[in-house]
Amino acid sequence: MLGQSKSKKSEVAISKADTPKESLKKGIELMGGISKFINEGDQVFIKFNLNLPGGFPTNTNFEVLEELIKSCKEGGASKIYLGSFPVKGIPINIISEILDLKNYFNTIGAELVFLDNSNFFGKKEISLEQLKKIKRDSFTKVKLNDNEYPIPNIILNSDKFISVNQVNVNPLFKINLALLNSYSIIPSNYREIGNKQNITLEYNSRDQYKMDIISNVLKIFTVKQPNLVINDLFYILEGAGPFIYEDSKLRKTNLMIIGEDAISVDLITLKLLNLETDDNKLIKQARSMNFSVPEISNIKVFGEKIEDNRIGIDSCVPKIEDIKLQNISTYPGKYCAGCYKQAYHLLNFMKTYLTKDLKYNPNNSFLIGENPIAPENFNHVVLFGDCAINSTKNYNFRKVVIESKKNNKKKANKKKNLKESKAKKESKIKEKQNRNILELHGCPPDVFTCLDLFMNYFGKKNLPNLNLLTKMNDFWINGKVNEELKTWEAL
Ligand code: SF4
Repeated sequence: MLGQSKSKKSEVAISKADTPKESLKKGIELMGGISKFINEGDQVFIKFNLNLPGGFPTNTNFEVLEELIKSCKEGGASKIYLGSFPVKGIPINIISEILDLKNYFNTIGAELVFLDNSNFFGKKEISLEQLKKIKRDSFTKVKLNDNEYPIPNIILNSDKFISVNQVNVNPLFKINLALLNSYSIIPSNYREIGNKQNITLEYNSRDQYKMDIISNVLKIFTVKQPNLVINDLFYILEGAGPFIYEDSKLRKTNLMIIGEDAISVDLITLKLLNLETDDNKLIKQARSMNFSVPEISNIKVFGEKIEDNRIGIDSCVPKIEDIKLQNISTYPGKYCAGCYKQAYHLLNFMKTYLTKDLKYNPNNSFLIGENPIAPENFNHVVLFGDCAINSTKNYNFRKVVIESKKNNKKKANKKKNLKESKAKKESKIKEKQNRNILELHGCPPDVFTCLDLFMNYFGKKNLPNLNLLTKMNDFWINGKVNEELKTWEAL
C-alpha cells in the first residue's frame, strides 16, 4: 500500500460565495453534487481540524461542518461520525466539554467520536483490563515500513472518508494542506518526530526532522485516502499561525477548494495562494514516492478561475530571530526544522499570552542551533535544544568573574598612589559557573516541558500569566486524567 496513491480524477472546484455555507454548497454542486460522493446507507467519517479548545480558526469552522453534515444526510448517509486527534496533551473530552461539541453535533445529526477513548475516563466501573480491551478493539495497528501506527477502526471501517481542512499558514509547510489534515488520524504521540539517536550534527545538517515528518505524513495518507476533500480558505489565518497568536490576522477570501483527490486540491490551493508548488517539499516527496501528482495544467478546474482569484498571504516568519519579543534577544546558530517549529510555537505563545511575564523579566538571551552567536549580556541565557546546549560548553557566558570582597577592603585601606598596583596584586579574581542559564533539552525540545522549565527557573511570582494559565490547565486536565491517557497511550 505504501508509496502508492490511488489515481483519482484530477478535477477540482473553486467556489466563491458570500457565506462559508454557500461556498461549500456551491463547491459540491460544481463537483457534480453530493450523490457523486455519498451513496444511500453509507457510514461517513468526517476528519476535521480539532487542535485546541480554542474554536475557529484554530479548529474547523462549525458552520462548514453543519452544511456538510446536512449535505451527507441529503446524499443518503445512514450514519455520520466526526473526529480528529488534538495536539499533544489535550484529551478530546476536555475540548468537547469546553466547546459543548458532543451535544452540538448530536443536535445536527452527527456523532463526535472520542478517538482517544477519553469519554471513558472517570468511569469507575471500568478496570484497567477493560480499558486495554477497549483500546485494542478501537484501533488496528498498521505496519508502514518499520513502524506500526494505530489507526482508529471507525475510520478504517467507514464507507466514506471526508477531509475538511481549515487552511491557515503553517511554519513548516507554508500552509495547512489537506495532506497534513490526514496526518491527525493517528494519536499525537505517534506523530511526534524526534532524534532518538541524539547525533545532532548530522540530524541538523540534513534537516532530518523535516524529512521524517514528510515521510510519515505521506505514509499515513496512504492508509485511508479521502473520498471528498475540502480546503476551506473562506477565512484564512495569516501572519503567525496556524493557531491564534498575537501576530495572526484573519483574512476573508470567500473561497473553498473542493475535489476528490487531496493532492490536486492541495496543488490548486497552493497555486491560488501564489505559493510555488515545485518548492513544496511535501509535494516533491509525494512525487518521488510515486504518488499520483498531476501537473497543474492537467487538473480540470470548475467554477472560479485561478487567475482571477490569486491571493498573496503573509506567511509565517522564516527565521526564529524574526519573532520579536519584549526583553528577549535571539542569538541563532544553525538550526533545523525541528527546533524552528518548536521555538516558533514557544515564542509566539509567550508573545501572545505572557506579556506581563516578559515585562517583569528583563535581559534574556535566547540561543538556538549549533554554534549560536555569543550573547551580549549574560543576565539570563536560555539555551533552546541540544545543539545550542552542546555547542556552547566553552562559551564565555558559561562562567562569571567574581572579585573577592577581602581584596576590595584591602584596596580601600591603601594610600592613593599605592592603591592601584597593590590592589592588583592582592585582588582575587574567581571564575564561577554561571547559574543564570536555562537549558531546554531535546532534539527538538517539547514546548509544554519548556514552559514548565521556565516556571521552575523564574519562579511563579515572576511569571504571573504563565502561573495563571498553568492553574487553568490543571483545572481542566488534572494529573489523574493525564496518567490514564498515558496508560492508554492515547496522547
Ligand atoms: S537540537 Fe534542534 S537544531 Fe539541533 S538537530 Fe535537534 S532539532 Fe535540529
